[in-house]
Amino acid sequence: HAKQEGRNQFVIYQSSFDDGEYKRFVFKSQFVKALADRQFFLEYQPRVELDSGEINSLEALVRWNHPDQGIVGPMAFISLAEETGFIVPLGEWVIREACRQIKQWQQKGLPPVRVAINVSAKQFLQASFVNRMKEILSENEIKPAFIEIEITESELMKDEQPIVDALKVIKEMGVFLSIDDFGTGYSSLQYLKTFKLDALKIDRSFIKDLPQDKALTKMIISLARKLKLKVIAEGVETHEQHTWLLNSGCHQAQGYLYSKPLGASDIEYILNE
Ligand code: C2E
Ligand code: MG
Ligand code: MG
Ligand code: MG
Repeated sequence: HAKQEGRNQFVIYQSSFDDGEYKRFVFKSQFVKALADRQFFLEYQPRVELDSGEINSLEALVRWNHPDQGIVGPMAFISLAEETGFIVPLGEWVIREACRQIKQWQQKGLPPVRVAINVSAKQFLQASFVNRMKEILSENEIKPAFIEIEITESELMKDEQPIVDALKVIKEMGVFLSIDDFGTGYSSLQYLKTFKLDALKIDRSFIKDLPQDKALTKMIISLARKLKLKVIAEGVETHEQHTWLLNSGCHQAQGYLYSKPLGASDIEYILNE
């Protein structure tokens, strides 16, 4: 059948794609070359201690400097990378690049900062994940406490034994572990006892409604504090949100109010201030 359609088959198929689908199709075919050609890069968003204003940690966020599309954000390609398995080499590159950068900042004598890395379940469920992570840390002479792993609540919720086991080993290594996008997963809270966590990151969708609609954020902060976890607000954009969070016992915040994600040299400038 395919043969009958002959040379035009691809064209016909392609024209039935909508724009989004076509872009996904093209992206998928370009992943491997993009990695080899160093088209990916990291930006870092500062996290601010609400009481002191200090910056003790940053979140690493991947971007793609695409030859035709310009700079493409992770929302456009991470789920595709997960579906195709490309997240495994990409995720390893992210860890390597973050560690290389931490090492460089240390060599330059900058104040120490922890870097939080977003990791997909598909990636840390690889049997080699922990050993690879250990190797990268020791090659760069970085203590595990300078790395934090962020895993989304929706991935943790799957509550599969392999996830529980993998996270246990990761925690034993000494890296920090936080739950990203907390509050959006509709999960049972049981898993908060299953994992040895360090922090909860309140999803931006809750912060957006502050201070008018505060019941859920208040509940998450109190839950985190009772469990002796750090609590971090994502997506803080206004002074009103900042003040409310500070007065409500939230530990850290991240958002455009303080800084957008920045390139490494801008981060250096900020850390040196
Ligand atoms: P996330 O981990 O929840 O990261 C926070 C997202 O919110 C980032 O979007 C950040 O740029 C954005 N953001 C920060 N402050 C504000 C604010 O005040 N207002 C608004 N509107 N947005 C803010 P970004 O960089 O587009 O990343 C989106 C998601 O992609 C991340 O969400 C994370 O889940 C995923 N991601 C990013 N880098 C990686 C990676 O290296 N590996 C994996 N597996 N996922 C990644
Ligand atoms: Mg994150
Ligand atoms: Mg988040
Ligand atoms: Mg998110």
